[in-house]
Amino acid sequence: MFTDADIGASKAGVAADAARRINPHVEAVPVVKRFDSSNAGALLAGASLILDGCDNFETRLAVNRAAVALEIPLLSAAIGAFEGQVALYEGWRTDAPCYQCLVGADPDREGINCAETGVMGALAGMVGTMAALETVRALTGWGSSLAGRLAIVDMLERRWREVGIGKDPECAACRG
Ligand SMILES: [Zn+2]
Repeated sequence: MFTDADIGASKAGVAADAARRINPHVEAVPVVKRFDSSNAGALLAGASLILDGCDNFETRLAVNRAAVALEIPLLSAAIGAFEGQVALYEGWRTDAPCYQCLVGADPDREGINCAETGVMGALAGMVGTMAALETVRALTGWGSSLAGRLAIVDMLERRWREVGIGKDPECAACRG
């Protein structure tokens, strides 16, 4: 989506342009606004699915809380230097975890800072494509659902694996 020429431009605007270039039938509506818990519900209401690729826990936790409250599936994708993760959360369900069940509630939790540790562009592309595939799966229902599972790609070992995520009965975001 992004090239050197986009440095300094609005990320949402450039992404919307890129989506339209790929498929002119796509309606992309960029919203250039800081996303936080005060506007999360209003920005996400009515969506069929939320695809989260945020780079910090505070925003991810706000997205998750809104997804649980609105009962919208949350497809979450993340990468580190050599590892990527994709998961689908349906935390409003009594038998499915939310994102906070996995990571806890601390918005200042130590995370991987891409600016400091670096990111492999090819890994971002790979995990992004996997997230796109899982989005189509979640919306159409083909194959087996990723809900309650975390798919992990380890590029040091060239290995894909999946682990189950349990619902945390003490989770403040989804215990209902
Ligand atoms: Zn939870």
